[in-house]
Amino acid sequence: MPNDAHRDAHRDVVDAHVHLLPPRLQAAIRGFFDRNGIDSGRFAYPADAAAVCDRLAAEGVSEVWSLPYARRPGSAEDLNKSMASLVAARRGGPVRVIGGCTVHPGDDRPLTVLRSAVEDMGLRVLKLHCSVGDFTPDDPRLDPVWGYAAEVALPVVLHAGHAPDGHTDDAELEPVAEVARRHPEARVIIAHCGHTASAAALRLVAAHENVYADLTPVIHRPVRPTAAELTALAGKLLFGSDAPNTGLTETQLLDGLAGLAGPEVPPEAWAALIRGTARRLVRDVRV
Ligand SMILES: [Zn+2]
Repeated sequence: MPNDAHRDAHRDVVDAHVHLLPPRLQAAIRGFFDRNGIDSGRFAYPADAAAVCDRLAAEGVSEVWSLPYARRPGSAEDLNKSMASLVAARRGGPVRVIGGCTVHPGDDRPLTVLRSAVEDMGLRVLKLHCSVGDFTPDDPRLDPVWGYAAEVALPVVLHAGHAPDGHTDDAELEPVAEVARRHPEARVIIAHCGHTASAAALRLVAAHENVYADLTPVIHRPVRPTAAELTALAGKLLFGSDAPNTGLTETQLLDGLAGLAGPEVPPEAWAALIRGTARRLVRDVRV
């Protein structure tokens, strides 16, 4: 059972891994899941961005990071523009939307695409999705992107695995370690805590000052760190749901984590997990 310190688990939550996307793209993503044996009819949320925000607000979420990702070279700029429009359209809504952007290493000029997204469109998180875009995080074409992310302290949510069902294995985290060595100042957030390689992901978080992880589930499977890990890595872990493409609700995820945390995890570590660290990372962006 959650202790006193965790009773605020359903209030002012920042969800650092959400995908509010245009209807056509959201439908295409659900079609992809269905073709890969994951029944999107069992997802916990509807596809429509406004409906998702209403539901999340009712569950105590006050802020989300909305993350787009590029499948093909040349598509990132349009995705970023539509995210900037979505952020504008959701202004004043029940959930504050921090807009994310994306690039593809095959873009003509990935760094130009990124600079425009951050400096002109006001987007504040970069998402790189290695399975959808079919690349590795240490792709040399991304070096200028990592360099810029380091320079302006832009948080980068990185889905390192290549499996269509969202899983990551230990070997796929090695290029993440390589990025951390090449760009030690870059703030890298390992999406889904590298599930099912979460143990290796948490070792990377512990070993590198600017490597973080989000505890986003993979469809129906939650990431389950121990109370000791939640405490030792306080300030390096972020809460995430993958809404609307998740089988688990915010409430189920928060209750699950509060149960794992039990009475052992200090309230400050808990507050950092469910809101503080995500807010600090966005606040720290130097643009
Ligand atoms: Zn995701």
